[in-house]
Amino acid sequence: MECDKCGREAVMHAAYSGLHLCETHFRVSVEKRVRRRIREDGLLSPEATPEAPETWVVGLSGGKDSVVLTHILAETFGRDPRVELVALSIHEGIEGYRDASLDASEELTAALDIEHEVVTYEEEFGLRMDQVVEDDPEDMAPCAYCGVFRRDVLERYAEALGADKLLTGHNLDDEAQTALMNLFSGDVKQMAKHFDASLGPFPARAESDRFVPRAKPLRDVPEKEVALYAHLQDLPAHITECPHASEAYRGEIQQLLLEMEESHPGTRHSIISGYEELAELAALRYRDDEGSSDFGECDRCGAPTAREVCRKCYLVEAVDEA
Ligand code: SF4
Repeated sequence: MECDKCGREAVMHAAYSGLHLCETHFRVSVEKRVRRRIREDGLLSPEATPEAPETWVVGLSGGKDSVVLTHILAETFGRDPRVELVALSIHEGIEGYRDASLDASEELTAALDIEHEVVTYEEEFGLRMDQVVEDDPEDMAPCAYCGVFRRDVLERYAEALGADKLLTGHNLDDEAQTALMNLFSGDVKQMAKHFDASLGPFPARAESDRFVPRAKPLRDVPEKEVALYAHLQDLPAHITECPHASEAYRGEIQQLLLEMEESHPGTRHSIISGYEELAELAALRYRDDEGSSDFGECDRCGAPTAREVCRKCYLVEAVDEA
């Protein structure tokens, strides 16, 4: 099959657009979508200048998504004095898994010449995920603990590193899955949070905003294309799956979406565009509620929370006592 742009040999066919693309035009198309998303979301504040640059902290796991995002950001903004990029990796304490992906992250950030910070659950919370899985005091799936710990580390370190934005490598499939999961569970508040957390556009952060704004510039690119981009660019991405991966429900949704996409190309894109509108309406509805609710500080760590003790401190104590 030939590239629809130049007639050279195509390396991919996107059923949702009907396009066949060669390696060069495929690379350009992925990068264009990421840059367009950054532009449309207004990610770079007009107030950013070489004298007062913005700091963007990028969550870098070493997997294909975060590696591709970091690579494209460095290619796009590496020489732009209005943006400072910092990569942040988290070691969860998972034997035989995270060390290899951290090596990939080190290799990438050294090649791109960007600052790289590594934080471990062990140093932060005095625990390792392997131990959490063994003790499991709350009888929960590993990812439920891990997600709470990760969110805490990302938010605190983004603040500590002076981040104006926190960027993560969620792709189109991740986002369409999350959208369907929130819809299927009827959780409108979660939809509101999803919008507030990451769907832009980004106004300047207000004094009252509790968290560093999050962005997902890769969210227009399907997972398969992210993987192909990493492969064709020979990026040091680590592809082994975590041994504690446990989101069975997400797996079912993923399968459903793959089947829908196969028979109705473009399904993921239409889910996302409809969902973003719904999530925005939900955010408007619940933002008022939240403004009037008591959002205080955790008794243990001072993090913003609606409870006395935040979820992270509660879980750390449960693991300690197990
Ligand atoms: Fe943590 Fe689950 Fe991801 Fe493993 S798959 S790193 S347990 S969130």
